[in-house]
Amino acid sequence: MRRVAVFGATGSIGTSALDVIARHPDRLRAEALVAGGNAAALVELCRRHRPAHAAVADPAAYPALRDGLRAAGLATEAHAGAGAIDALAADAASDTVVAAIVGAAGLSSTLAAARAGKRLLLANKESLVLAGELLMAAVREHGARIVPIDSEHNAIFQCLPDAEARAGLARIRLTASGGPFRGRTRAELAGVTPAQAVAHPKWSMGPKISVDSATLMNKGLEVIEAHHLFGLPGERIGVLVHPQSLVHSLVEFIDGSTLAQLGLPDMRTALAVGFAWPERIDSGVASLDLLAQGRLDFEAPDTDAFPCLRLAYAALAAGGAAPAALNAANEEAVSAFLQGEIGFLSIPDLVEDALQRMPDAAAGSLDALLAADAAARASTRAAIARAAVSGTVTHREART
Ligand code: NAD
Ligand code: MG
Repeated sequence: MRRVAVFGATGSIGTSALDVIARHPDRLRAEALVAGGNAAALVELCRRHRPAHAAVADPAAYPALRDGLRAAGLATEAHAGAGAIDALAADAASDTVVAAIVGAAGLSSTLAAARAGKRLLLANKESLVLAGELLMAAVREHGARIVPIDSEHNAIFQCLPDAEARAGLARIRLTASGGPFRGRTRAELAGVTPAQAVAHPKWSMGPKISVDSATLMNKGLEVIEAHHLFGLPGERIGVLVHPQSLVHSLVEFIDGSTLAQLGLPDMRTALAVGFAWPERIDSGVASLDLLAQGRLDFEAPDTDAFPCLRLAYAALAAGGAAPAALNAANEEAVSAFLQGEIGFLSIPDLVEDALQRMPDAAAGSLDALLAADAAARASTRAAIARAAVSGTVTHREART
């Protein structure tokens, strides 16, 4: 029996993970459920899955969680705050952690799970972008096992499950749907709204990653993620736009052979792989009918219209704290875009500004990375506030 702690249980990945868990009561059990601040949604999940522990990050949501669990007649113990969440990640009562908190907020619990030697179903790509070396070192040192839950990295994991399979590896290619604005020019992107940006054509996901998919920053974060997971430099990680989202990524060997993993765009496949590997279990995802799908198209990404992908490659090449600054500036910019404070094209502009402003600092320690994260957030927030004051909400396109 795998005892699973689901971090980000109320989100898109968390819900998919619980769907797979519920299909296998004989082999999977939800031991702990963790969310940000929505106590009511978490109580509902506890009714269904009856975990031993439930936690909210926001201490203000604690009374609602505790009282809701009590009113539901559940024995689930309520917890709140970042410390309690990290303790649940390390708790020996679970052997498997689904890391599906969104953003850098997921780093601490992900690190705690790695240090506790857990099987880590890693959806929270931001923790690898922010502190990839440290996280991978913790995994090695404490005997943890990462199964990537990003569909592309899960595809590569299935093609390259162990070191032996990597012999003769030439490069990997991540596929990208291209998002809702594929084919548009930069000028055509100036007026797009948050509602248009989160309406992803192929995947149903949380708002932050949906905007990242629309800017192609998601693919940029995934290039950095792949670098850490598979130990390849940026030059050996390519990106192919594939609008059907059926080929989830490809690995190419020196002899001309290419392996790919295909399937319908539904994260439950990756999660089932994560729970059962090296076995296979039912995920609830239908089989892929290629005759019904008809065709597979591929094109090169347009980094003029979507500069975030280029910025992420540059941050990876720069190394040090640059990926941490990229990620932090992006989180702040995406949040401001979703709240209607800035335009879509300001997202890459703000990220580029943060990378240029970043001092040359070594990034050997977690403290140094967190300092770079905090500095990039502060400077990005200040730039957003200045743009609001001057009325140039989308500051750069106002000048050009
Ligand atoms: P989401 O917005 O749907 O859910 C986020 C979850 O995190 C929610 O449960 C929320 O309550 C919780 N949360 C937010 N802040 C928190 C905090 N400070 N402490 C504890 N919990 C907090 O997001 P999502 O789409 O499920 O994405 C989650 C992660 O998985 C992201 O890193 C994303 O990049 C990655 N991912 C998602 C998908 C997808 O299909 N949705 C695919 C690949 C990777
Ligand atoms: Mg992905």
